[in-house]
Amino acid sequence: GPQNLDTGALRVIAAEEQHVAHNYHPLPVVVATGEGVWVTDVEGKRYLDLLSAYSAMNFGHRHPDLVAAATEQLGRITLTSRAFHNDRLGPFAAALAELCGKDLVLPMNTGAEAVETGIKVARAWAYRVKGVPADAATIVVANGNFHGRTTTIVGFSDDPTARDDFGPYAPGFVTVPFGDAAAIEAAIDDTTAAVLVEPIQGEAGVIVPPEGYLAAVREICTRRGVLFIADEIQSGLGRVGTTFACDREGVVPDVYLLGKALGGGIVPLSAVVADADVLGVIRPGEHGSTFGGNPLAAAVGLRVVEMLATGRLQTRAQALGEHLDQKLRELIGHGVTAVRTAGLWAGVDIDPARGTGREIAERLLARGVLVKDTHGQTIRIAPPLVVRATELDWAVEQLRVVLG
Ligand code: PLP
Repeated sequence: GPQNLDTGALRVIAAEEQHVAHNYHPLPVVVATGEGVWVTDVEGKRYLDLLSAYSAMNFGHRHPDLVAAATEQLGRITLTSRAFHNDRLGPFAAALAELCGKDLVLPMNTGAEAVETGIKVARAWAYRVKGVPADAATIVVANGNFHGRTTTIVGFSDDPTARDDFGPYAPGFVTVPFGDAAAIEAAIDDTTAAVLVEPIQGEAGVIVPPEGYLAAVREICTRRGVLFIADEIQSGLGRVGTTFACDREGVVPDVYLLGKALGGGIVPLSAVVADADVLGVIRPGEHGSTFGGNPLAAAVGLRVVEMLATGRLQTRAQALGEHLDQKLRELIGHGVTAVRTAGLWAGVDIDPARGTGREIAERLLARGVLVKDTHGQTIRIAPPLVVRATELDWAVEQLRVVLG
């Protein structure tokens, strides 16, 4: 077992390994508390959180405004189901629709549910509005995508670990290379309901498409009568220095898929956001979720949207992101082979001669920095947007040391 842990922590990990399915391979740290960008383990050791729960903690751990919103709502009511109205869903939906510049919100819980909902909306739109023959609708997706873990979604993943042995796979998806707008154009035919892409691919290693790609996708979708669905579940809500990654190219998709940070890192909360001519195709009884739109999540989500509406965190992410980019670039040729950044989001490719991404993550852990490797040689850096420049400098210094 890892030498850095005392017997208490080892016992916690052993119990987890005995009774929790092994669908993850966590780093050997047992987190007990968190505040802002820092978490503390069961032994009192502090770590800078550079993962932010895959960007769900954009506002940091236990942000006082979000904790206050949740606490206040816990004293009122937490769950009604949508068999009845609750007094929190409407205000949340209105604020989120305004943030997105759209008419309607369909609230769900997890990211994968938002993606599934987006797929259902696109298919219903294709049959009821576009006039695609029954059961013939297709959706164009990109190589290297990550949209979640449901059976339909893993069916159009090209990652064998995500996909293998979980078939049979749902038909109706066409895969094209990411970043290649001409390939999207060529894949579209009369049956195409939608193009579904991450504006920046997160799990793939923070893959930023060529400049002009999103604008080209927008233009193609408009001209060919196809919905542009942007999965902004990881890229959206301030991470890249703008509210949405699509904003970087001044692009507005037909459908936003949102999740992760939408629930402030407190509750699972996701949403599909679109105009009435699209999302309005869903009729009562056709879709839903027991917890979707619950008042606790809506109360937290409203506060999240209010925080984003000021634009302050986006500006911060933009400025600090440029700073981080500069610092990380200094490591190229010194154990780092490539750096890709977008706002406060970075994919750092590690020179295999210095170790795997996992090994680097373990060495950083020992020095008080939490990161997660992805696809072998890449580590992803996504601090809470409330991080300070001095904290980023310190973290990059730790990376320099462990690469040494
Ligand atoms: N879409 C994207 C772009 C994601 O990054 C993720 C999660 O990493 C998901 C969807 C799935 O979200 P969830 O894990 O909440 O189902």
